Amino acid sequence: AEQLHELIVHPFEIQGQRIYIGVSIGISFVSAQIDAAEELLRSADTAMYAAKRNPLSRGIQIFSAKLSANSLKNLALETALREAIKQADIDLFYQPIVDLETGALVGAEALARWFHPELGNIPPLEFVTLAERSKLIFSLGNFILEKACLQIHLWQQDHLITPGDFILHVNISAQQICHEDFEDWIKDILQRTEISAQNLMLEITESSVAEDIDQQLLKLLDELKSMGVQLSIDDFGTGYSSLSYLQRLPVNSLKIDRSFIHQINLAGDNRQVAQATIALAHSFGLEVVAEGIEEESQLYWLRQLGCDMGQGYYFSKPLSAADMTEFLRCHGSASQTR
Ligand code: C2E
Ligand code: CA
Ligand code: CA
Ligand code: CA
Repeated sequence: AEQLHELIVHPFEIQGQRIYIGVSIGISFVSAQIDAAEELLRSADTAMYAAKRNPLSRGIQIFSAKLSANSLKNLALETALREAIKQADIDLFYQPIVDLETGALVGAEALARWFHPELGNIPPLEFVTLAERSKLIFSLGNFILEKACLQIHLWQQDHLITPGDFILHVNISAQQICHEDFEDWIKDILQRTEISAQNLMLEITESSVAEDIDQQLLKLLDELKSMGVQLSIDDFGTGYSSLSYLQRLPVNSLKIDRSFIHQINLAGDNRQVAQATIALAHSFGLEVVAEGIEEESQLYWLRQLGCDMGQGYYFSKPLSAADMTEFLRCHGSASQTR
């Protein structure tokens, strides 16, 4: 199989053009469990898909019973997720974001929640990854965006927030932002929910934008900016080494990944990463949000370093829509507490 793989992935030339072909190979053997031709083919197929998914397999995977259990589980979960999106069973929780200098509430991050009737709470990283693998990410992503914008609409209607004084952050997956219709989807949702774009910030991960900045992505980000939608780079510091891309992207803020906040109160490298990130962001005119603040000492250091905003269990865990609405009533958004 390895030789076959080598042979196929080797580029060949047709009329002076180099052609590359990818191949994924699944291998299965007849055994006590696999004794019919159909099962042999199906298990080889399962192994082939595993080879496709797993970069470490280098294109070749031998079938094992574990793969089969996994693929059945994923298939069932995918069906359940498709159903949950259709039934609007995905919920959003909201985690407050505060101004570190004044303590005022300045926004919140929308975090998706899925409660499966039998399996219980499925972590968002798990079902978002599943959605990304199965093309469900577009319907899931649009559902989440619309739900978040409807919530903004409700809060505006109740005068709990006004345009610009409270920003709702919504996580966007790389696949969504790369879809050619993404700009239309955003326009459509803003129009239908009748909200001011000034209340919306999209969080995109560093790896989804830094890896390949092409003209199409730049055009999209510029267009979003001109619509008034703000952009934030999420999980900053985890992925990429070169920072030159920051200069080229029309973004408003950086979010320092939780892993750097975690040990910021201990001396050492972690504080330096946060310090360097804050200095860099400020030199580009960007604001910085620290995520995962759990302790007062972490807050102390972030203030010392001049970090602008923060979120984390120290201030509040993610809240249901009802609880977040109550939180807004009690604490008001920035303009009311100022
Ligand atoms: P993220 O965007 O980095 O979100 C922050 C995560 O940190 C959330 O986990 C939040 O509950 C958690 N967190 C907040 N404060 C603290 C703290 O003080 N300590 C600790 N240990 N954790 C804290 P969650 O809700 O489980 O979400 C995990 C990831 O799933 C998110 O990471 C994001 O990548 C993804 N995700 C969640 N909702 C969505 C969504 O609507 N769309 C997309 N594309 N991804 C989402
Ligand atoms: Ca985020
Ligand atoms: Ca993050
Ligand atoms: Ca993260």
